[in-house]
Amino acid sequence: MKIAIIGSGFTGLAAGYKLSKEDHEVTVFEKDPHTGGLASSFPVGNDNLDSFYHHIFITDSYLLDLARELNLEDKINWYEPKNAIFLDNRLYPFTTPMDLLLFKPIGLLSRIRMGLLVLGSKYIKDYKPFENITAKEWIIKRSGRDAYDKVWGPLLKSKFDLDSDMVSGTWIWNKFKLRGSSRGKSKVKELLGYMDGGFAVLADTLAEKIRNKNGAFCLNTTVKEIRKTTEGKWEVITDNESKLFDRILFAAAPELLAKICPELPQDYKKSLETIKYKANLCLTLELTKSLSPYYWITISQKGLPFVLIIEHTNLVGLRNYGSRIVYLSRYIDASDPFYSASDEAIANSFLKGLKKIFPSFKEDMIIKATLNRARFAQPVSTLGYGERIPDIKTCESGLYLASMAQIYPEDRGLNYAIKLGYKAADIIIGG
Ligand SMILES: Cc1cc2nc3c(=O)[nH]c(=O)nc-3n(C[C@H](O)[C@H](O)[C@H](O)COP(=O)(O)OP(=O)(O)OC[C@H]3O[C@@H](n4cnc5c(N)ncnc54)[C@H](O)[C@@H]3O)c2cc1C
Repeated sequence: MKIAIIGSGFTGLAAGYKLSKEDHEVTVFEKDPHTGGLASSFPVGNDNLDSFYHHIFITDSYLLDLARELNLEDKINWYEPKNAIFLDNRLYPFTTPMDLLLFKPIGLLSRIRMGLLVLGSKYIKDYKPFENITAKEWIIKRSGRDAYDKVWGPLLKSKFDLDSDMVSGTWIWNKFKLRGSSRGKSKVKELLGYMDGGFAVLADTLAEKIRNKNGAFCLNTTVKEIRKTTEGKWEVITDNESKLFDRILFAAAPELLAKICPELPQDYKKSLETIKYKANLCLTLELTKSLSPYYWITISQKGLPFVLIIEHTNLVGLRNYGSRIVYLSRYIDASDPFYSASDEAIANSFLKGLKKIFPSFKEDMIIKATLNRARFAQPVSTLGYGERIPDIKTCESGLYLASMAQIYPEDRGLNYAIKLGYKAADIIIGG
């Protein structure tokens, strides 16, 4: 079959890889100048760096198997992260169970209940009961108001902004489960993986494999419209041309599919449009000095413009970056005027916030600052989300959809993008 894939993130690439292995003729359309989607990279010093911070977990079996298949396994290294929470104007270590026990901002009983909640989550197999309770209600019930206000509430706010109170228990249960499972042989120390040269290395290799099987890539090419022809083929229309295909896989946010396919029935389009995504603002700083010993700092204090500080070089070392790499990240509603502010205004606001946390931070420590924005960064899974997820097969024959929003009950991630891409390929092949 001649198959068009719209979107060259990990979902589209994994599907394209599988389809081309089965000798289908794949053409990938991508609006950006490069493949990889959210997991693309940019040059920093004598190395490449992910535009948005990424790490993987030891349970990410689809990604690890794929890396093995592509002889990239040696490029993945495992590191022990040091994490912290910024609250009440200070940093609290928050990596080990002992850190939790010593976490003074909440009472001892709450700390114990919180530990039991996180540890117990990995033994819960059926997520259905969490579909009808918000993460907020569940956490307050199981570990108390204090634990919610000081730790989990800020974490939910950091991901879901205005929607945080409505996020379903399923999302947070899955997070607890994941963090509790990515531990090495000791079962105590968490291990996070990173790929030498960034995860774009994996994306580039997948693209190369697709090309080697006569696949084609149309980069810098936004698909403007797709239409079904009277002969049952699908027409893909870009600024430059229109091409015919037997099948289309749309591998990006559902609401974007609703925009480019006018002939979809109204109620189906509406169902795609109700799936909300948060945007992300991510400022990458190349610094002359390190800010702290921590890899991951969650901001639990109100009034700061970002919600995470990720000092990437504290996880993976200095490599060939020639600087210390710090990401400042904020998930945000795309309708918030701050999302559309100028790069300069966002960077200034973030840097002002950084000085509040690290008073010794000076702007002359910055070698370079790069702001990246992602409009479709995180699907919002509110109550009953499991019922609203669209199928990979759309209501039109020959048209398929595979997006982060369909990864459930797990949360989005590179591993699940690969799994979803494979599943979409199987469904396409199956008809
Ligand atoms: C800030 C941040 C941090 C993250 N951290 C981690 C992490 O630590 N670990 C982890 O595993 N995952 C992480 N993720 C998630 C991970 O990046 C995603 O799950 C994964 O990259 C999604 O891949 P995708 O192919 O589904 O979507 P995307 O990567 O969004 O790809 C969709 C592609 O479709 C293209 N497109 C859309 N419309 C059109 C059109 N009309 N025509 C042509 N092209 C189009 C887009 O340009 C894009 O390239 C993070 C994400 C973010 C935003």
